[in-house]
Amino acid sequence: MSDKYDVIVIGAGPAGYVAAIRAAQLGLKTACIEKWTNAEGQGVNGGTCLNVGCIPSKALLDSSHKYHETKTDLAPHGIKVADVGIDVKAMIDRKGNIVKQLTDGIAGLFKINGVTSLFGTGKILVGRQVEYTDHDGNKQVLTTENVIIATGSQPINIPVAQVNGNTIIDSTGALELTEIPKRLGVIGAGVIGLELGSVWNRLGSQVVLLEAMDDFLAILDQKIAKDAKKIFAKQGLDIRLSCRVTGSEVEGDEVVVTYQNSDGKDEQETFDKLIVCVGRSPFTEGLLAPDCGVNLDERGFIFVNDQCATNAPGVWAVGDVVRGPMLAHKGSEEGVMVAERIAGQKTQMNYDIIPNVIYTHPEIAAVGKTEEQLKQAGESYNVGVFPFIASGRALAANETDGMVKMIADADTDRILGCHIIGPSAADLVQQIAIAMEFGATAEDIGMTVFSHPTLSEAVHEAALAVNGHAIHIPNRKKRT
Ligand code: FAD
Ligand code: AMP
Repeated sequence: MSDKYDVIVIGAGPAGYVAAIRAAQLGLKTACIEKWTNAEGQGVNGGTCLNVGCIPSKALLDSSHKYHETKTDLAPHGIKVADVGIDVKAMIDRKGNIVKQLTDGIAGLFKINGVTSLFGTGKILVGRQVEYTDHDGNKQVLTTENVIIATGSQPINIPVAQVNGNTIIDSTGALELTEIPKRLGVIGAGVIGLELGSVWNRLGSQVVLLEAMDDFLAILDQKIAKDAKKIFAKQGLDIRLSCRVTGSEVEGDEVVVTYQNSDGKDEQETFDKLIVCVGRSPFTEGLLAPDCGVNLDERGFIFVNDQCATNAPGVWAVGDVVRGPMLAHKGSEEGVMVAERIAGQKTQMNYDIIPNVIYTHPEIAAVGKTEEQLKQAGESYNVGVFPFIASGRALAANETDGMVKMIADADTDRILGCHIIGPSAADLVQQIAIAMEFGATAEDIGMTVFSHPTLSEAVHEAALAVNGHAIHIPNRKKRT
């Protein structure tokens, strides 16, 4: 190990490992320090996303969806099934194997690209130096031209429901359950709470989600959020809004949760497991020597500018540890931007076009502005909506819940946002993210030839509907 680097990345989640690979591709001498260890005590790359986030949650969402679909949704296709069962341990093991395959894959990518992989903890010292402590406690000071902080985030703990790893768990614990809880409570009906609640609901748990806010999924376009709430209720998710959890008591194998309901009255509910999903906070514990010059903002995130530079020369920060949505792909793009800037390029990522997805069934996906945001900003816009019930492909698949909503500027017709709840929403919305990057108008999408029959046609029709030209639904507004 040489002591002098061009770039040292601290943290090998999707922000850090991508930054490290891109820096090495650009000919920069790069090391990546990662402190994560697996159950066997071995160092692993991949961070939250690969170990306890995006990937394992999607593995369980896919397994539980297949089980639920086989059990309850195949009859309309004329398929008869009997004795459908679930082996929870096999499901969890499969998830573990996927995690291993992908985290091992990063080790391979580091090797191929010439990134020096260091397992242990990194700490930023003054004057472009990093203290590296390996898992045996050996310390070494490394010198570098640039440091990229990519230390991610951790689940927020609330005093009213302290995680004990048994009855009260966080998102990580919810990915490791080996039995299906009969009664499952979830605090927080946000993205992670809904995904994890869906997994166990499909497997047979009675799931109650307690959410303090009055609006359901306030970050979403509210037309989509309202549809989602109805669909989830049909699926058996008991979502209680305006319900703030105020206490919890573990009694044997159960946990009794007290919450204030929408009328301000105290209520209680007893669960076998309680998942706390009230958000995540930036992780900077033990990272910064007091005199290293890196500032935090008032919420504890590393303070950065639009190019992810901190206020300390040569120190950058990317991913969940800085402002912006806590999404893997947002961090990865920041990682690429910073690596390229270090190499002298002028890369600037576009923060206005970051798609986001909730992997429930159906999926929910969005890019750009919501109607509520545009209204608040006083913008004038046109809206086109197309429901999946009118899509031949969706009918053929028996996946007719949901809609595509497209919003375009009233004067220029440029697409401002696209909001989808429905089958394959995550992949459909990406088409519009690309279109928006190229400054496309709703008319551009309308004039594009779409294959028939595809789910994408719903996106096409929503774009046509923006200007009153939809073919397969009545147009609300007649435009020429
Ligand atoms: P992290 O992935 O948190 O990685 C940071 C790494 O830094 C960790 O490995 C940590 O060990 C290491 N580290 C910290 N401090 C030090 C130190 N001092 N020295 C060395 N190493 C250090 N996002 C999506 O986009 N799509 C999804 O579907 C999605 N699903 C999710 C599901 C769940 C259940 C959860 C919890 C999150 C999900 N997310 C999803 C969010 C996503 O996981 C995060 O946005 C993403 O992992 C952030 O990447 P990061 O690289 O910034 O940080
Ligand atoms: P997200 O930010 O998407 O992870 O969602 C977390 C959700 O948890 C937010 O919608 C919060 O309103 C909600 N939340 C936070 N604290 C509480 C609480 N004490 N009781 C119920 N919901 C909460």
